[in-house]
Amino acid sequence: MASVTLEHIYKHFGDFTAVKDQNLEIRDKEFVVLVGPSGCGKSTTLRMIAGLEEISEGTLKIGDQVVNDVAPKDRDIAMVFQNYALYPHMNVYDNMAFGLKLRKFPKDEIERRVQDAADILGIEQLLDRKPKQLSGGQRQRVALGRAIVREPKVFLMDEPLSNLDAKLRVQMRTELSKLHDRLKTTMIYVTHDQTEAMTMGDRIVVLKDGVVQQVADPLTLYNKPVNMFVAGFIGSPAMNFMDAKIEKEGDTYYLEGDGAFKIRIPDDKEDYIKDYVDKDVVFGVRPEDIVDTQITHDFEVAEDNTFNADVEVVEPMGSEIYLYLAEEGHSLIARVEAESTAEVGDTIALGIDLRKIHVFDAETEESIF
Ligand code: ATP
Repeated sequence: MASVTLEHIYKHFGDFTAVKDQNLEIRDKEFVVLVGPSGCGKSTTLRMIAGLEEISEGTLKIGDQVVNDVAPKDRDIAMVFQNYALYPHMNVYDNMAFGLKLRKFPKDEIERRVQDAADILGIEQLLDRKPKQLSGGQRQRVALGRAIVREPKVFLMDEPLSNLDAKLRVQMRTELSKLHDRLKTTMIYVTHDQTEAMTMGDRIVVLKDGVVQQVADPLTLYNKPVNMFVAGFIGSPAMNFMDAKIEKEGDTYYLEGDGAFKIRIPDDKEDYIKDYVDKDVVFGVRPEDIVDTQITHDFEVAEDNTFNADVEVVEPMGSEIYLYLAEEGHSLIARVEAESTAEVGDTIALGIDLRKIHVFDAETEESIF
């Protein structure tokens, strides 16, 4: 069984702690993506799993075996890097076969594995070519092939697509997901790109400053981020944040900004919010949950879920329009339908989908709901 378990893992580089108290249980055959901004400790975590970096504290298990002191070559893992160096003087076949030859695999077994991997990756016709005769995407496939022929228990991938152009990257994402379905092997994938993470992972681990922020499937991360960091990191354009206070009038709770907005909090959120009356919070709303009230929408707009804002930039995206707005010192973005006629300089009424709003504790930045 190829589960990977991290128990209280730390990595210290001198005085600096790059990875702090990480606890993760990656299940057998799961596709898990580690994502976070540059320097958050993604690569260090992966390199510790690979055995390329010593673990300062904690226990790492592959299956039931503690592997802290097991050499990389004995961990039954294969790693694909961003800078996959292929041997320039060897053809594709030999590049893929090289590791197996070193391990003294029988010739017919090597032949079978290379052919199988080439078939899976659709590169059978390239086996005689040298790396310089390949496109970037083809080279990346060969690098994957080199990992696949090992038939490892776990694949580790560190930004393997970041050297490819945007279109190929999108295509390879789908191919890697299919590859995972086909190989049915545990995969741990590192990227700084939240879209890549969202489209590929069964589960996503969001890291910041060496600390795991949240581990969840893509939809849960999107809809129920545990804090402002995750809320702001996942989703593009990013969630809007506005400082607010919680006010209570009669039985109703409101989010009130310094400026114009006063938004009703749905009744079913009362339990979450009742201890925050008169306290500072941060109101979060995703760009797609703000509508131009002049256009149809699937929820009711009323005084208590609308506010006015000035249009500063209009960015037509074809199927929709991004409006960059200013509201009493707050900048925000709305993703509205392509029919919107809002123009730069207009003051427009915007409606908020109250079912989708988020509120965070201003001090801890943790989600209240
Ligand atoms: P990126 O997306 O930029 O690759 P990352 O999330 O993969 O970032 P890591 O490479 O894991 O980040 O690095 C985490 C932190 O540890 C960084 O602050 C980095 O500078 C530091 N670090 C990494 N390797 C070493 C080292 N050998 N010595 C000292 N500090 C290191």
